[in-house]
Amino acid sequence: MGISFNLPNPSAVKYLDEQFDECIGDEFEQFRLESIKAILVNGLKTGRSYAAVASQIVAGYPEITGRKERSELRKRATLFVLTATGNAYCEASLQQVLNLDAASRKMEKRWVGPEDHRACSGCRFNCAQGWIPVDARFASGHRRPLAHGGCRCCLTFRRRPG
Ligand SMILES: [Zn+2]
Repeated sequence: MGISFNLPNPSAVKYLDEQFDECIGDEFEQFRLESIKAILVNGLKTGRSYAAVASQIVAGYPEITGRKERSELRKRATLFVLTATGNAYCEASLQQVLNLDAASRKMEKRWVGPEDHRACSGCRFNCAQGWIPVDARFASGHRRPLAHGGCRCCLTFRRRPG
């Protein structure tokens, strides 16, 4: 997949910082979002792994002590980190290509995702569309992944052939 969580990407960090709500959707209300935003932005800035960032988030909830509850918390924290950083990276790369393409309008994008039994039908349809103009929307209505929490898709780009 095209997303690397270990490479600092200034435009992804900027997007995460400025459009935090867009990055996390509305699925993570149980977290104390202001404090974990700082953890996440800092983790992304310094190229920390998503697992390390998730651990840091989990450490902020010492009051959750049950073994099952903590394992659930870790799962949610990991999903949170993957969702937020995935959105930030996809949006940042799309914006970069849109900016490059503003004059020539020759760039295309393609929705790429794992084609296994866990892939949702919306993402499959988007993948099946192949190459579309960078400023178009995919079949699901999204301009880019992620389509949902836990979405494992990303974008690739190319110059339109011919
Ligand atoms: Zn997906």
